[in-house]
Amino acid sequence: MAISADFGERGTEPFAPLGEVLDLIRCERAHTRPRIGELSGLGRAVVAQRVGQLIALGLVEDGPAAASTGGRPARSLRFRAEAGVVLSAELGATSVTAGIADLSGRFSVTRKEPISIADGPEPVLRRTEQLLADMLAARQADAPPVWGVGIGLPGPVEFATGRPIAPPIMPGWDGYPVRQRLSSRFGVPCWVDNEVNLMALGELRDGQAQTEQDVIFLKIGTGIGAGLVSRGQLHHGAQGAAGDVGHVQVVDDPGVVCRCGKLGCLEAIAGGGALGKMATAAAHDGRSPWLASRVGSRTALTSVDLAEAAEHGDPFAVALFEQSGRYIGRMLAALVNFYNPSLIIIGGGVSSVGDVLLASVRETIYSRSLPLATRDLRITRSLRAEVIGAEGAARMVIDELFSAARLPLWIQNGSPVGMPHLADVA
Ligand SMILES: [Zn+2]
Repeated sequence: MAISADFGERGTEPFAPLGEVLDLIRCERAHTRPRIGELSGLGRAVVAQRVGQLIALGLVEDGPAAASTGGRPARSLRFRAEAGVVLSAELGATSVTAGIADLSGRFSVTRKEPISIADGPEPVLRRTEQLLADMLAARQADAPPVWGVGIGLPGPVEFATGRPIAPPIMPGWDGYPVRQRLSSRFGVPCWVDNEVNLMALGELRDGQAQTEQDVIFLKIGTGIGAGLVSRGQLHHGAQGAAGDVGHVQVVDDPGVVCRCGKLGCLEAIAGGGALGKMATAAAHDGRSPWLASRVGSRTALTSVDLAEAAEHGDPFAVALFEQSGRYIGRMLAALVNFYNPSLIIIGGGVSSVGDVLLASVRETIYSRSLPLATRDLRITRSLRAEVIGAEGAARMVIDELFSAARLPLWIQNGSPVGMPHLADVA
């Protein structure tokens, strides 16, 4: 038997096929050695040798015999998702959701705690690190090691360096080396991204967008932001600022001042913060008797009060949600015409309470977009808004660790533990 027949023309690249074989098993595209051979074009002996190497590294194991169509059944193979864990934390304006996930992105534990992102990076990250360390300490002594950390932040992040850049609601965070800090703290690579991008990634990997290629995730909370998926990949843009649609100017009114300092931004007229302010004003000046009865001794109302008012048929509240939905819908219609997504997922605190708002968003998108662009367009609500960002943060770490650029750098060691610099590899 000629060796060249088994190694073929790829025999000179020993590392690339190892990563390729691992990915076929990990992504569940191949469950048996023969199938790996078919999909990779590698010879039988090479496949057997590579699988043996992956088993020795603890990344793959033999399972029961796979179903066979005749002849000797092939042993099935499975990726050992329990070989390591990733730490994940999604930081919002007022809370952090943190968890520990296995290498398939499945969480064994999550916790949510109040924080105030405006307190600055020192206290917020110290609390986040403590939360993660407490969850790690509560595990059994023989629990798998940490392979990486993923962090979501409620502002623009320069993805290549893992630093927030001029975030409007995060005083003291501009340029703060979040990646470097978490990486040093846990001795593993760390990746940082905008929280809405991570919600989009969570939906793409393990949510409603799994079968889609072109997706918009729109978060309507206090502010408004979008995560874009193009051709099955998260679209960061040149610097990582893609999707910051909350600060598109939609009105030319000197009275609409945004927290970013500019005038007429979408979130300053249609976001949850703006809706709360308008509800409070209407309670005090008599435009809404329902809200006036609600406000009592409170100083301010929120979009949740407004949603209840709308449910009770309060005309002011209904009109306000309809207006908000029209502004958001027009912005989304521009995106639909520009980039033709097949799915728009709407999440965030305001979306979960405002049925009137969602109806208005939908109607505006369909009436203002090109017929061809909306022919197969689905518009839906996020079903797991509470955890999808933290899930996305874990998925980001897994995607990055197993990327074609990084996998060859650690696979011979069996894990990326002790290699925090991996995140700096482009
Ligand atoms: Zn703004």
